[in-house]
Amino acid sequence: MKVMKFGGTSVGKPERMHDVATLITRDAEEKIVVLSALSGTTNSLVEIGNAMANGDREAAKQVIDKLDAHYQTFISNLLVTEAAQQKCRAIIAEHFEFLNIILKISFNDALNKDILAQGELMSTKMFSCYLEEKGIDHMLLPALDFMSIDAYDEPQVGAIKAKLSNILAQNSDKKLFITQGYICRNAKGEVDNLKRGGSDYSASLIAAAIQASVCEIWTDIDGMHNNDPRIVKKTVAIEQLSFDEAAELAYFGAKILHPASIWPAQHYNVPVKLLNTMEPDAKGTLIVENAGSVGVKAVAAKDGITAIKIKSSRMLLAYGFLRKVFEVFEKYRTSIDMITTSEVAVSLTIDNNTYLDDIIRELEPFGTVELDKDQAIVSIVGNEIGKTEHILSKLFDSIADIPVRMVSYGGSPHNVTLLVPGSFKTQTLQVLNKGIFGLD
Ligand code: ADP
Ligand code: ASP
Ligand code: MG
Repeated sequence: MKVMKFGGTSVGKPERMHDVATLITRDAEEKIVVLSALSGTTNSLVEIGNAMANGDREAAKQVIDKLDAHYQTFISNLLVTEAAQQKCRAIIAEHFEFLNIILKISFNDALNKDILAQGELMSTKMFSCYLEEKGIDHMLLPALDFMSIDAYDEPQVGAIKAKLSNILAQNSDKKLFITQGYICRNAKGEVDNLKRGGSDYSASLIAAAIQASVCEIWTDIDGMHNNDPRIVKKTVAIEQLSFDEAAELAYFGAKILHPASIWPAQHYNVPVKLLNTMEPDAKGTLIVENAGSVGVKAVAAKDGITAIKIKSSRMLLAYGFLRKVFEVFEKYRTSIDMITTSEVAVSLTIDNNTYLDDIIRELEPFGTVELDKDQAIVSIVGNEIGKTEHILSKLFDSIADIPVRMVSYGGSPHNVTLLVPGSFKTQTLQVLNKGIFGLD
């Protein structure tokens, strides 16, 4: 059995959904197809939630009406027969009724998550209507029946596996299942989600749970590129990555994959393929245990990083100092991405400022604490990158004009990480593209 996940652009137009139906019926292998919301929908749902949180029901209503009109046109172009269209409109109407009801009731975070779930619920139901019209046998598998996270927002493959296996066993006559990416239930049993871009994570969790033959992530580009194609003009697709390399790139900003989406596949050793819905025969990127080749593969960047420097000539030399520092971050469940130390100071970075004030307050007794917000991490990732000839000189020559704030190398043989001011992110990615990959 395999998993095929299609992202927002892959289902964002009626003709794309038609293509998806072709792609999932190309071979006879049993499959679970994971769909995102139509492109733009989750952004609109976020807008609705924000407007409601601000008490601006008028603005929320406007977004709902615009979205409704978009779905009406979509259905007209997705389905041929009047009967199929009518059935689909009735299904979608229920979701818009829900959105219109929330305008009238008091808003809270749990309700917001219900709003955010509507996109994937609608895309899968519309796709199911299309498959039905085409006479393609399938079953809708509600993700809310098996996808769950614990009290710390962590998905538990064991629990997911138990529930999913049960559902699949009860429907062993079916060969094709359609389910929602992104959405899940939390420890309280409420509707929740795996954060933005979370459909990749759903796909990998499902692939791990069913021990899929492969987890295919179908998107709008022919695989992982060596640099961010939204920022750098000339980029090339990478043929093969190890799980570690892919996880590093995803975590450090390669938007093609949700930051946490690699570990389930890696842990259960399911190969991941990144493929292009618009160019289905392009090679794409294969992600497996083996890196395939030695050397630098790609760079990625993540912004919104805060650097924290703790300076203390007295404390730093003392053993136990770093443990005390780390304990503060542990207490506030805030993970540290980069760390560098000198005799008198330690600098580290975080990407989540939720508890920043508490963290600073608890660090202050240790020494002088300095903060730099709006920084960007640029990560150069590969396999044993030290073996790439002159890699460090090429790297540092190319960033000569960038005011680098931190450098980290040696934590693993697979990356060099830089911290630069956020305003230098674009320039850094561009100069590295030329300096390391020779691409202009
Ligand atoms: P989907 O909607 O299919 O989940 P996403 O928009 O989340 O698609 O991810 C695909 C996009 O990721 C690409 O269109 C591309 O702009 C962006 N991207 C960023 N970095 C990379 C990279 N290194 N390689 C490929 N794509 C990347
Ligand atoms: N629809 C969700 C989002 O836009 C999840 C996803 O597409 O992966 O973030
Ligand atoms: Mg995505």
